[in-house]
Amino acid sequence: MKTADMETMEKLARLGLYPTKDTLPFWDALLAGSLVTCRCAACGRFRQPPSGFCPGCRHTEVVWQRSDGVGTVYSFTWARHAFTPGLRDRVPYVIALVELDDAPGVRLIANILDAGEDQVRVGARVVADHRNAAEARIDFVLRGEADD
Ligand SMILES: [Zn+2]
Repeated sequence: MKTADMETMEKLARLGLYPTKDTLPFWDALLAGSLVTCRCAACGRFRQPPSGFCPGCRHTEVVWQRSDGVGTVYSFTWARHAFTPGLRDRVPYVIALVELDDAPGVRLIANILDAGEDQVRVGARVVADHRNAAEARIDFVLRGEADD
């Protein structure tokens, strides 16, 4: 009999993603259309990527905390070449490092969807977008000034 974890692992493998037992809850949440962050159960330090023990206090227990997905672009670049045939229809696209407001120290490698080349900048406010949840993608969209 397959467990829910096994089914999730198979779903992710079909997408070319191979999580460990430490990272599975992160990818599982993405598939379900939400974003979670890994936090040390002892000292509260966030850690990304999730790992088997806390680099601060060596504690092994974690708490998965749901994020509201609001953050800031720390850095970014535009990909103009399709590195795989599957990306041919997506270029150019943004690859960004996004810092989450509710998880200090966590920076996610993500895409910024629907953004023009003159719109993305370091410090831009973004919010997680789960329209591609079935692909377990880490996507954000720019947040309008009125949302700040
Ligand atoms: Zn800790």
